[in-house]
Amino acid sequence: MVKFVPTTCPYCGAGCGMLLVVKDGSVIDTQPWSRHPISRGELCIKGWNAHQFIHHRDRLQKPQIKENNRFREATWEEALQLVANRFKQIKKEMGPDSLAVLASAKGTNEENYVAQKFTRAVLGTNNIDHCARLCHASTVAGLAQAFGSGAMTNSVPDIEEANCIFIIGSNTSSQHPLIATRIWAAKEKGARIIVADPRKIQLCEIADIYLPMKSGTDVALLNGMMKVIIDQGLEDKEFIKERTEGFDELLKILEQVSLAEIAEITQVPAEDIEKAARIYAQAERASLIYSMGITQHTTGTDNVMSTANLAMLTGNLGKPGTGVNPLRGQNNVQGACDMGSLPNVFSGYQAVINDELRAKMAKAWGVAELPAKVGLTLIEMMNAAASGELKAMYIIGENPLLSDPDINHVRQALEKLDFLVVQDIFPTEVTAVADVILPAACWAEQDGTFTNTDRRVQRVRKAVDPPGEARPDWQITCQLAGLMGASDLFAFTSAEEIFAEACQVTPLYHGMSYKALEQPDGLQWPCPSEGHPGTTVLHQQQFSRGKGKFHPVAYREPAEVPDKSYPYLLTTGRVISQWHTGSMTRRSPALESEFPEAFIEINPGDARELGIKDSEQVEVSSRRGKIQLKALVTDKIKQGIVFIPFHYAESAANVLTNPALDPVAKIPELKVCAVKIQKGG
Ligand code: SF4
Repeated sequence: MVKFVPTTCPYCGAGCGMLLVVKDGSVIDTQPWSRHPISRGELCIKGWNAHQFIHHRDRLQKPQIKENNRFREATWEEALQLVANRFKQIKKEMGPDSLAVLASAKGTNEENYVAQKFTRAVLGTNNIDHCARLCHASTVAGLAQAFGSGAMTNSVPDIEEANCIFIIGSNTSSQHPLIATRIWAAKEKGARIIVADPRKIQLCEIADIYLPMKSGTDVALLNGMMKVIIDQGLEDKEFIKERTEGFDELLKILEQVSLAEIAEITQVPAEDIEKAARIYAQAERASLIYSMGITQHTTGTDNVMSTANLAMLTGNLGKPGTGVNPLRGQNNVQGACDMGSLPNVFSGYQAVINDELRAKMAKAWGVAELPAKVGLTLIEMMNAAASGELKAMYIIGENPLLSDPDINHVRQALEKLDFLVVQDIFPTEVTAVADVILPAACWAEQDGTFTNTDRRVQRVRKAVDPPGEARPDWQITCQLAGLMGASDLFAFTSAEEIFAEACQVTPLYHGMSYKALEQPDGLQWPCPSEGHPGTTVLHQQQFSRGKGKFHPVAYREPAEVPDKSYPYLLTTGRVISQWHTGSMTRRSPALESEFPEAFIEINPGDARELGIKDSEQVEVSSRRGKIQLKALVTDKIKQGIVFIPFHYAESAANVLTNPALDPVAKIPELKVCAVKIQKGG
């Protein structure tokens, strides 16, 4: 008999609804879910093929322990007891801050909630982080400062209500294809489209104006647009007066810039900046969409605050079809942040340094006290491991040996740890350096929830059993907590029970329950009380912080810019059929066949100078390492800039990237570094 199990896509933050088709205990197909509010009966290539990795022969099925440099299979009892003993010993001898946990944006809200509770209540440290640090930490920091809430202000469906859509630093049709369909639909209804990107992305085909900006000059471009708006009196004076503060400080910084200078910095003609500014400011409803092209910079927080400045300047907040709309990368990166897998906040962004909130959480969890010191971020963990300060890590569903910048440094750091536990569904580069590997269930093998990019909490439903002895991540962490003496705190018997506790202690989720999430629309936070319909548009009457705050931001160069030795600017990103570190998509035959190998996009002018032909093998080096891959000569990329997708372990772009951090959000500058290129390799 065939059954159809409604669930949520495990790939991007769009959060499309899908049906898993199950026959004889196997998922044999994926079908779109016609009633779903985001995907409306459609899926992208990844969604259609999401079932292909579930029963792959590589799935981890038994715990493994490394002995004499070789892994041997172990029982769950033996493996978990070993982990519990080593964690207890290291905590006792070296202190709780010598341990750290990396949770996962691929995992459910429930497993993230349990992971941060385990880190804080059992290990006794706030050293927990996850890959949001690499994608949208600057969104959380920047929008929280401007608006009081670091999330997409509007909803995916209301993108179609916009009269103007400004896409900056988001290759939406490749990364969030079903959100791109909304941009296309808005265009058909008459919306004007502005695209700012160093690459001529697919959305340029429908753009009214394309701004081919140099990577890393976002603040300059946005300041230029704001200067035009103010000089031409196009700002929304009433909105500024009634809803915002700090406008005079913004004016002061804009007085210091000239459009000619901005055109030179951004490499965008001044008249195009002016035209884009006028289109955006004169639209009745303008939506600004961005992604990692804005966030992955040492100026990531500044970039995000600049997008907020532009939206506030023109009154484009608090109503449908407007907003500042960061598109979150992975399926549950919003949820992993919401659930507190971050070193500075409990679930719901409740600060760990706030005595009252800490006491509230300690009481709710039934512990005497919780750590008050803000923990280490992901990159800080790697630095602490390299220096010997961090002794042990528990990595759940992440692969920092492909996703982090400067991979050679990350490898040295992880190899220096006394004890490394990795929990995952497939062998990866990081399971290879672990001391213990714990096999986990994938998204189709467990119940739970994901929170998508528009703050929509949606159900994930178990369709089949996990392979072999693999278990849901939350069960593994709870069992470990039990062996470390905290069984009472982790006596959950289902994902639903965990969600109920999470909702109880998280004001943004207070009104949610599995029952309330049964409808296909899910519920968008804030959902403060039972029966509340959720919130489609944030900041309607007032901002979460009261008044919206302008932050004057001056342009700063990236941390590393091209020079004589390394003359090209490298930027990185994704391709449509691959996902992040490729552990799932590279095991899906249909997806792997689309883009089976890495490439470097080079402008024809640069290729000529280098004597490189299309499809030729090249070696790309930065100050941190080198890789070999194939050249793709294309005029889709600006001269002087090259692009490499980061999914491929055999030509890992992050060997080259710069780990320099944004000072506020601690996000590394994955979007800009200097490289040199030579033929061969
Ligand atoms: Fe899945 Fe994103 Fe594609 Fe939707 S757009 S099917 S969520 S990968």
